[in-house]
Amino acid sequence: MSSTASQASTRAVVLVTGGAGYIGAHACKVLKAAGFLPVTYDSLVTGWEEAVKFGPFEQGDLMDRVRLDAVFAKWKPVAVMHFAALSQVGEAMREPGKYWRGNVAASLSLIEATAAAGVEHFVFSSTCATYGDHDGVTLDEDTPQHPINSYGASKRAIEDMLRDFGAAYGLSSVIFRYFNVAGADPEAEVGERHEPETHLIPLMLDAVAGKRPALSVFGTDYPTPDGTCIRDYVHVMDLVEAHVLGLRHLQAGRVAPGTARVFCLGTGRGFSVREVIEASRAVTNREVPVVYADRRAGDAVKLVSGSGRARDELGWEPRRSSMEQMIGDAWRWHNRAV
Ligand code: UDP
Repeated sequence: MSSTASQASTRAVVLVTGGAGYIGAHACKVLKAAGFLPVTYDSLVTGWEEAVKFGPFEQGDLMDRVRLDAVFAKWKPVAVMHFAALSQVGEAMREPGKYWRGNVAASLSLIEATAAAGVEHFVFSSTCATYGDHDGVTLDEDTPQHPINSYGASKRAIEDMLRDFGAAYGLSSVIFRYFNVAGADPEAEVGERHEPETHLIPLMLDAVAGKRPALSVFGTDYPTPDGTCIRDYVHVMDLVEAHVLGLRHLQAGRVAPGTARVFCLGTGRGFSVREVIEASRAVTNREVPVVYADRRAGDAVKLVSGSGRARDELGWEPRRSSMEQMIGDAWRWHNRAV
C-alpha cells in the first residue's frame, strides 16, 4: 500500500525507516503532532503494518536501492530518521552475520541513497550497547566505545559511517544513543510488539498476565547490590520527543554541515532487574512468576547514562520516565492489545 505524494505538499516529509516497529511508530505519532508528514519505509520483516497510523506507508527493504531511490524521489524528504534495525543482543551473539548485513550493510544502502538524494539531515538510533562493559561507571557521549556484542558493534560501525559520509557529502547527523526504551503511548494507539519478544518489561507483563509461565531472570551473580543487571530505562514517548528536538536542532543549523552530534538518551537512574520486578508488583497489584536462569551472553553488568547533553543542548526533559509510568503505560497497552 502506498499513498500519494500530494499529501506532502503542506508538510515537510520525514522518511522514517522502521516506522512500523516499536520506536518508529511512536516517532511517527510525535512527528505528525509536530507538523511533519512521517513517511514510513519498512520491510515488515519485524514491523507491523497496523502500527503505521500517522502517515503514508512505503513497503521496502533497505538493501533495495532502486526502491529506496524511487521513494526519495516521490516524497522528497527533508530528513531521514533511521530506526529500522535488528536489536536483540542474544541473536546478535548467535548470528553476527545477520547483524553486519541487516544493520551495517542495510544502513550503508540507506545512507548512500540519502546522500544521492541530496538530503542533508539524518537522525540515527544508536545504542548504549556500543559502550560495552565499563565496570559500574555512568556513560556519556565521550565514554570510549568497546562493544561486547555484535549488535553494539554494528551500531558503532553505522555511527562511523555517518561521520565519513558527513565529511564527504555534507550530511549532518544527530546520533542518539538509547539506553533501555520502555513503556508505550499513553493513549495506547501504538505500543511494544516484538515477535519473538526478548525484552524484560513485556516478557514480565506476559508472565504477570499468565501468557508465559514465568519470567526468567538472566543472572543473579552480577557484581551489583542485588546480583542482577542494572539498566537505565527511558519512556518511549520521551525518547521520540528527543528525536523531534534533534530534527529541529539540525534544521536550525546547530549541527555544522558534515558533522554528527551524539546525544545519550537515558534518565541517569539505574534499575536492577529485581527492582523492575518490584515496581511491577506495585503497578499491577499482581505477583511476577519468576525463575532464575544463567546469565545471557553479551549482557553488560550496568548501563546507566551520566549525560546531561540532551537536556542542555536540546532542552529535552524526560517527563514520563518514572518506572511506575513506564510499566503502567506498557500494562495498559498490553491489556488493550490482547
Ligand atoms: N532480562 C532478563 N530476563 C529476560 C529479558 C531480559 O533478566 O527475559 C534482563 C537482561 O539480562 C538485562 C535486562 O533484563 O539485564 C534488560 O534486558 P532487555 O533485553 O530488555 O534489554 P537490553 O538491555 O538487552 O537492551
